[in-house]
Amino acid sequence: MFQSPPAKPCVPESVLSVDDLCVRFSTARGTVHAVDGVSLSLAPGETLGLVGESGCGKSTLGRAVVRLIEPASGRIRLAGEDVTHQPRHRLRAARRNVQMVFQDPFASLDPRWTVGELIAEPLHIHGIGSRAERRARVTDLLHKVGLPPDAAERTPHQFSGGQRQRIGIARALALEPKVVVLDEPVSALDVSVQAQILNLLVGLQRSLGVAFLFISHDLSVVEYVSDRVAVMYLGRIVELADRETLWRSPAHPYTRALLDAVPRISGGHRPAPLKGDLPSPYDPPQGCAFHTRCPLAYGRCRTETPLLRGIGPGHSTACHLADPTLPGAAPLAA
Ligand code: SF4
Repeated sequence: MFQSPPAKPCVPESVLSVDDLCVRFSTARGTVHAVDGVSLSLAPGETLGLVGESGCGKSTLGRAVVRLIEPASGRIRLAGEDVTHQPRHRLRAARRNVQMVFQDPFASLDPRWTVGELIAEPLHIHGIGSRAERRARVTDLLHKVGLPPDAAERTPHQFSGGQRQRIGIARALALEPKVVVLDEPVSALDVSVQAQILNLLVGLQRSLGVAFLFISHDLSVVEYVSDRVAVMYLGRIVELADRETLWRSPAHPYTRALLDAVPRISGGHRPAPLKGDLPSPYDPPQGCAFHTRCPLAYGRCRTETPLLRGIGPGHSTACHLADPTLPGAAPLAA
């Protein structure tokens, strides 16, 4: 659907690192392991796409990274600082470095505020600048996201969905964060508007050097913006690779099923869609959580959980078939 820009060269140090992170929710029905032992890192100026079906835990992971949700265990480091269990008063300072853009950024904001007030609010909370300096910063941010200066005097309901997302992006960038978590930022927009917002994000990243954790269920969108991609299934990462490798040589059967489901302009043979629904997170399958839907499942898959293991430079997957040294394994089909 979109023509991908060239991938950026890999930058070694991490601006965000997540180690063995777990998020659990206790409800009347039981405990949900929404995020189960996830580790990932993000380099400055890099975009890591996080993809998977609805309910796989990707949005929960994004919210945990910005500490909107309290993790049960694991560690989150932001710009070298451990923020996993920082108390509220210290968390405010850490939040300067990580911001979030939501599918509808105005759903949780007061619609009576002007756009200028909404964009300036993070600056006000952090005590940055005089009133005049904040106003100048709002004008600059509006310019950066392609909106006129007088947008500051209007209220959110006077804007289209695409314009509102531009305002949400401006608000997220107000504090010059090192990392922005974008949670389905274009899912509610028309395709033509999606392309405009994605191009805006790519341009902003080039000029500002900010890193993006880009969460989406749409592989076309993820392919367009991402340098690397993590595929999630039932709270775990099942494959992680750079964009070209993942699209050219997907190793996990779930990744292949997701890629096969992307509509092709050329038409032709259409592989069978992924069978069944995502299992209930209250009662996940034993062994490999994907075995109830996997066309390649064999005996070991029902009893033993596969670990995420490296299978090539920067490429790892959690599938027994990627471990040819162990009995019962078969080579991965090309
Ligand atoms: Fe399929 Fe088994 Fe690999 Fe899981 S471990 S993806 S069930 S082959």
